Amino acid sequence: MDSTPALPQLLSGRTGIVFGVANKRSLAWACTKSLASAGMRLALTYANERMERTVRELASDLPGAVVLPCDVTKSEEVEAVFSSLRKEFGFLDCVVHAIAYAKREELEGDFYHTSKAGYMIAHEVSAYSLTEIARCALPLMEGRQGSIITLSYIGGERVVKNYNVMGIAKAALEASVRYLAHDLGPRGIRVNAISAGPVRTLSASGVSGFTQVLDQIASTAPLRRNITSEEVGDTCLFLASDLSRGITGSTIYVDAGYNIMGV
Ligand code: NAP
Repeated sequence: MDSTPALPQLLSGRTGIVFGVANKRSLAWACTKSLASAGMRLALTYANERMERTVRELASDLPGAVVLPCDVTKSEEVEAVFSSLRKEFGFLDCVVHAIAYAKREELEGDFYHTSKAGYMIAHEVSAYSLTEIARCALPLMEGRQGSIITLSYIGGERVVKNYNVMGIAKAALEASVRYLAHDLGPRGIRVNAISAGPVRTLSASGVSGFTQVLDQIASTAPLRRNITSEEVGDTCLFLASDLSRGITGSTIYVDAGYNIMGV
């Protein structure tokens, strides 16, 4: 099954923001569709003017959606997003962080060639941004039993050829999830990661050898197939809803079972 079955309005009356929609293929867009289908009112961000039109067009189908600029390397833009949300929504129940960046030339060859600048930018965009976003979101989310969700990949735990510095950044991201879950749990906020299997998106196409990875998953994962972006979106819906109220600090795999495999 590729799409979300009709669900009761699990998230009706709730608000959320999704960072990382670049186009229809983005995992962030799959998350947006699932959350909206359950009644959540959403804000979307775009990273630069080049993306603004696409994100506005996609958002035009979402009732009451708000679209805001946010390049996470600019703290003033992150802060401005949450000031706008205070005015537009007044409170916030969910944050989806689905952004990552590494220099294309560092997603192939040997990891030890990673430059200091490449290491820093990958970590700034792909890992540190979650902490800054969580800090800015806290005043709007506190005490509402809210949920923060980020996107990770098994390359943060195991060696995946060519994933290189992005794997190190995903390890930092998953550790950040645990520390944030510890800090924010007493304030009524859960923090979890979805470790998704490979899906053909704009970012994924920058990782050298991506097609071979898809082929390997399809032939060896327990479900003998790749996942769909809708499966990631629906897990996001679960993590955003009260159905997952006992889960925080976890990394949930949506990978057709690939993570259990040894040799
Ligand atoms: P995507 O559609 O290319 O999304 C990546 C997003 O990150 C884009 O919207 C991009 O915006 C944004 N971004 C990059 N630099 C940014 C910055 N400085 N400020 C704000 N946003 C920035 O690719 P995706 O595959 O859906 O990636 C979403 C998340 O899923 C990432 O964390 C990725 O690592 C993770 N993930 C993907 C896969 C997969 O196979 N696709 C598997 C596991 C996990 P611009 O395009 O405008 O730069």
